[in-house]
Formats: sequence, structure tokens, C-alpha cells
Amino acid sequence: MTRNARLKHRMKYKTLKGFQDILPPDILIWQNIETISRDVFRTYGYQEIRLPILESTDIFVRSIGETSDIVEKEMYTFQDKGGRSVTLRPEGTASFVRAYVEHHLYNHPAPQKYYYMGPMFRYERPQAYRYRQFYQIGAEAMGVEDPKLDAEIISMLTKILSGIGLKELNFELTSIGCKNCRPDYRDALKNFLRDKLNSFCSDCQRRYDLNPLRILDCKVPDCISSRQGAPQVIDYLCADCKKHFDGLRHYLDILKVPHSITPNLVRGLDYYTKTAFEVTSESLGSQKAVAAGGRYDGLVDEFGGPPTPGIGFAIGMERIIPLIKDSMKPSEGPDLFICCMGQYAYEEALALAEQLRARRLWVEINYDDSSLKSQMRKGNRIGAKHVIVIGEDEVRNEVAVIKDMITGTETQSRLEAQELVKIIKAGS
Ligand code: ATP
Ligand code: MG
Repeated sequence: MTRNARLKHRMKYKTLKGFQDILPPDILIWQNIETISRDVFRTYGYQEIRLPILESTDIFVRSIGETSDIVEKEMYTFQDKGGRSVTLRPEGTASFVRAYVEHHLYNHPAPQKYYYMGPMFRYERPQAYRYRQFYQIGAEAMGVEDPKLDAEIISMLTKILSGIGLKELNFELTSIGCKNCRPDYRDALKNFLRDKLNSFCSDCQRRYDLNPLRILDCKVPDCISSRQGAPQVIDYLCADCKKHFDGLRHYLDILKVPHSITPNLVRGLDYYTKTAFEVTSESLGSQKAVAAGGRYDGLVDEFGGPPTPGIGFAIGMERIIPLIKDSMKPSEGPDLFICCMGQYAYEEALALAEQLRARRLWVEINYDDSSLKSQMRKGNRIGAKHVIVIGEDEVRNEVAVIKDMITGTETQSRLEAQELVKIIKAGS
């Protein structure tokens, strides 16, 4: 082999920066979280919706907002072979509302309630808890403007998070007003920023005219300090928004959902109205938001449907997993490992394993001619709860000894599925 050929042979492929493989046993934690979430969603009447990962770019630009960080800097946008501009979804709500309008789901009784789970893509600077492909579990409820629904969906979110085993979370809440109160607030904010504009980054200077509210979301340290003392939207709410917010807090108290008001909570997406919230955990450091959401009463209208209020949230999987990893039980091993000595034994083991699997047991067999000692060691290493040794004598007599690896107890059994199942189930 030439040197080049050897090098090529050894070439290592890696995931792209900001992407990751999710392997066992971690995947068990993911599945567990998904199962717990599905269970809670069912009791609140939320049904699963599966949406495409790729959509027309316009969908995200129109909804998330042209001057948002997501649209300006973070989207995976490219031309497909037909020359259309398409984008890997950076979040779920825009695609959901597209589907809601496309399939006239507003014709069904309100509220229409859906949940989704899946990957999102944002071209961000990868760092701890911040990936370029990350997974969200999200929910959307459509067609009810009343804050009872806001309180209910927020309560559902807390049920999911506590069901997963998350503790010590902060629930931050605010109202960011509606299209009626926003103009006044925007004027007040612009007045405040006007003579400080030089100390803001060039992005913010551009946003000043286009969308000054986005300046509140800028992560540049100078911009953060320069906007200290800026007026807060919660002080500019119209009567309707104020009533809605007071109602929400009242219902959250009734549902015993602890929350704090964070007036300067800003969301990175333009479509939010009224209710906005974020769930944070101090143990995550600077990427501390584990879930976030809010109302988007204008979005269906924007997408060409009849004006329909909506509210939703999304949980970030990669941010909750590190918080619970230690408390989730480690992966389980097989119920039975079959050690085999000799050709007859293998034939018997193959057939027996099939019968036991049909009875819902997890069964592994040995595949090579290794010594009994090394087969036993393997059974141990893969965490088998029971081990059985089949050799020529066992096949002939149709009897073998099954060992409980936890207690060390050895039991004789006929080589017959029903009797083995009984012994294995009694042991585990
Ligand atoms: P952040 O302020 O952390 O950037 P965001 O406001 O951009 O979050 P949302 O669009 O509200 O996030 O998404 C909801 C949740 O999805 C976040 O609270 C977070 O848990 C998760 N999330 C968002 N971006 C990422 C990412 N790049 N990597 C991992 N999780 C993410
Ligand atoms: Mg972000």
C-alpha cells in the first residue's frame, strides 16, 4: 500500500462543528423525556404534528423578522436544484402556522392543540449548550385569546419539566404588548436611544430605524450596557394587554405555578405579542434558557389565514439533558445471555433465543468459539441479568443451569421457553 493510500484509509470523518451524534446509553434519556412529554401532552389534549425540516425561506423571514439575529445571521439557507431559496427550519412555530393555514385547521373547534419534536438548525457560534443542530419539544395552541389558555399551557410546560425531574427552575414572565401599544413604546425607546446611538454596534444603529425593539436583544456587551435604563414595554401596555396580563397572573396563582415578572425579557423573534416567557436554570451558566415561548396573535393573519390568536413554547433538549443526566437510571442489560459450547449448542441457542424474544425478553447469544470463561466475562460486561450455559450435555438432556448474575443463585431448568421465562421473571 502506498503512503497516500494508507493515509486515505485512515482518514477520519467527523460531524460538522456544532452537530453531534446521540448514542446509547444517552439516547435512553432522550426517549424517556419524549415519553414523559407525550404523556403530559395527551392529558391536555395536544396531538402530535410532524412538519418538514425544509421550508421556503420566506416563511421564516416573514414571521421571525428580517432584522432578527436568526434571519440576519443564523439560517441555513440555500438554493435547491430548482433555484428556490429554501431554509432548514431554525424553529417550529413558523412552519406550524404555515401548516395551520395551509390545511385550514382554523375550521376545527378552538382551541386546536398540537405538539412537535424534532431538530432545528441555526448557524450560531457553537459553545456549551449551543449547537447548530439542536432538538426542541414544542407545543402550540390556537384560537383562544383568553389568558386562561396561557396559564394552562404554561402549567403544562411546568408539568413536563417537573415530570422529567428538573428542579430549581426560574419561570420568568412578561407581556410585550400588541400592535396597539407597541407604537407608543417604540417612540419612547427611540427617544431614549437617540443620543446614545454612537455607543451601539453597527447592527443596532441600522436596527434603530428598521426595528428598534431588536436593539434590546443585542448580545454585544457595549450595547447591553448602553441600553441600561431603557423604558420597558410593560409600562406601556394598552388597557387590553394589561387586563390580559393581570388575568394570566391571576390564573397562574390559581394553578399554583410559581413565576416572577421579568419586565426586560426580550424574545429573539418578532412575531410575539402579549405573553412572553422563559424558563431558566442557573446551573447552565450563560446559556440558561431551557424553554421559552409566548403568544403570537398576529401570525396566522400574516400568513394569509383568518385572524387567529395563538400561543406556544419550545423546550431545548440539549439544555435539559445535562440537568437530569445524573438522576436518570443507567441503561439496562439483557435479560439473558446464552453461552454456547459446540455446534449443537449454537443451533439450540439460536432457536431458543427466538422463542424467548417472542415472549418479550431481551436475549443475547454468543457468536464465536471463545472459551466458556471469556463468554461468561462477556455476559458480565454487557450487564446480562442471567446467564445460561449450553453445551453438548445440556442439548442432549434438554436441561441447563441458569445463573442469576445479581444474586448468584443457580437454578436448573429444562431448555424450554416457558420454564426459562418463569425463572427469569422471578429473578428480575
Ligand atoms: P437563546 O437566548 O439561548 O439563544 P433563543 O431565545 O434563541 O435562546 P428560542 O428560539 O426561544 O431560543 O428557542 C427555545 C429554546 O430552544 C431555548 O430556550 C433553548 O433551550 C433552545 N435553543 C435555542 N437555540 C439553541 C441552540 N443553538 N442550541 C441548543 N438549544 C437551543
Ligand atoms: Mg438564540
